[in-house]
Amino acid sequence: MNKEQLVSMLRKTGHKVTPQRLAICKEVLSSQEHPTAEMIFERVAKQYPGLSMTTVYHTLNLLKKLELVHELGFNSKPSRFDPNTSTHINIICQKCGKISDYQSEAIQDYWNRIVLEMKLEPVGQRLDIYVVCEDCRN
Ligand SMILES: [Zn+2]
Ligand SMILES: [Zn+2]
Repeated sequence: MNKEQLVSMLRKTGHKVTPQRLAICKEVLSSQEHPTAEMIFERVAKQYPGLSMTTVYHTLNLLKKLELVHELGFNSKPSRFDPNTSTHINIICQKCGKISDYQSEAIQDYWNRIVLEMKLEPVGQRLDIYVVCEDCRN
């Protein structure tokens, strides 16, 4: 999604488009590392020193509602935000928290098969594999 599409989507859904809000959207939507709200705040605050954490949470909730990001919640760690909303596997390091995506057509096909076979009407999905990544093993 480019900037124009995002702006028009926000406007269409009745939301004010502020430069801060746009910067937050850009940061999370272009990120592949599944950032926390805190990480997004730190990065965007460099550009907009007056930024508040509330604005970050507001905007992330908005993107969630628009189905543009998924929130990956964890028991004892802060949530991570994932702009990849298609069916994929998150490979999550239990030590350093690094998350990378694994995506293949086979996963999507199998997913569709399960939905069909079980007559499901999914309202969401999340596939995780927990690992200790190569960096952490060395
Ligand atoms: Zn992911
Ligand atoms: Zn690691």
